[in-house]
Amino acid sequence: MIVEEKWQEILLTVKEEYELSKVVYDSWIKPLEIFRIDGDKIYILAPPEQIALNYITKKYLTPLKVVIAEVTGMEYEIEFILPEDAKKMKPAKSTAMQDDSAAHKNHDLNPNYTFDTFVVGSNNKLAHTISLVVAEEAENPAKQYNPLFLWGGVGLGKTHLMHSIAHHILANHPKLKIQYVPSEVFTNEVIDAIRNGSNAQINAIRDKYRNVDVLLIDDIQFIIGKDRTQEEFFNTFNVLYNAGKQIVVSSDKPPKEMTTLEERFRSRFQWGCMADIGSPDYETRMAILRRKEEMDNIRFDDEIIKYIATNIKSNIRELEGALNRLMAFSRLTNVEITIETAKEQLESIINPDMHREITPQLIIEIVAEHFQKTPEQLISKSRSSDIVRPRQIAMYLCKNMTGASLAGIGEVLGGRDHSTIIHGIEKIEAECKTKESTQNLIETIRKKINPN
Ligand code: ADP
Ligand code: MG
Repeated sequence: MIVEEKWQEILLTVKEEYELSKVVYDSWIKPLEIFRIDGDKIYILAPPEQIALNYITKKYLTPLKVVIAEVTGMEYEIEFILPEDAKKMKPAKSTAMQDDSAAHKNHDLNPNYTFDTFVVGSNNKLAHTISLVVAEEAENPAKQYNPLFLWGGVGLGKTHLMHSIAHHILANHPKLKIQYVPSEVFTNEVIDAIRNGSNAQINAIRDKYRNVDVLLIDDIQFIIGKDRTQEEFFNTFNVLYNAGKQIVVSSDKPPKEMTTLEERFRSRFQWGCMADIGSPDYETRMAILRRKEEMDNIRFDDEIIKYIATNIKSNIRELEGALNRLMAFSRLTNVEITIETAKEQLESIINPDMHREITPQLIIEIVAEHFQKTPEQLISKSRSSDIVRPRQIAMYLCKNMTGASLAGIGEVLGGRDHSTIIHGIEKIEAECKTKESTQNLIETIRKKINPN
């Protein structure tokens, strides 16, 4: 169930978009738990007093509905219930949920992620074409496309393409056995088996993943560096590859940028074919929004669609999230969406500062905030390591994201001299080369500074 999987994200989104303080969030929102889902109704456990239940219902029912629709693309009824009433309800999972988990076991495929619903643009044309070829030829995969390595940033359509390949094969080559798995699931299965010391469990995993014609493994970056899981995957890869079976891998980076990737993986990933998915251009973003309007049978003003396409650029999930939010808002409140309401509703998604100028000052502020320090601390004389490191990261980012000179960077960072700045930059540069975690950290902060 997608709502359950995304529950944490949903709660955090409520916090962000409704600008709840930490205290409010911690006391009212964070403790909310799903008790049960019946069809399109979600029962949520409220704190144990009637008065709290009333308060939450009054204040947070609509925000929750809106955000659930925004994050999952589906609308639900919500009812808060008291723990004592929950006890009286049938605690058994509804049949709907059992059906769903059975489907989960089969292939875990989103029925909406097909080639039909995938909008092709210049950013994904190659990846799309090759995916289609791989799906068509899955019976007898060409060496040239095996493995297929799809890579690209968050929310750009990797999972959608992988599911499309799987659906296409299921429909057109029903004899082929396919297995799609997010690499986190694979990891958990392996870890579980190891923890239980169970050979039977390990064998079951091998059986599941090695007796297939097509293996699709999503977000491979999550298993890199996890020794046993990586080893298990490596062996599975070899077995399938040697048997001439198709393998499809996705990742957020190309193999050459996965610094901690062992050479044996790197070379294997590069045996076949690599295709990247980039950020969609304006036309593609418009086409995706129009397609979604069509699918959801709704029509907004052109001006609104253009506003969204102009302002959300780098993540298709957010692009869709914006539309979901407007649809939910309009249905829940029965208000017709004008460009003004749209702007208001999307304010929290569309960062109004998106086009702000990137200056060393801005970088210092954002780095400080990221490490829960103040800009003054970064600029100060303090040599304590929890300040020094953020400070060096700020130096590195100033050098890489602004045109400021070393002397200029030293100036804004509390009048430090040029050699101190060079030292700081070099330190972070070296770390980036050897540690994937540092790279990821830098990337995260970079996105905060420049979300585009
Ligand atoms: P990723 O796996 O790369 O993080 P997803 O495949 O989950 O991204 O895509 C995020 C959302 O954007 C999904 O809802 C997906 O259907 C949608 N999406 C991505 N690319 C396209 C596209 N080319 N056409 C239509 N929808 C797309
Ligand atoms: Mg994905």
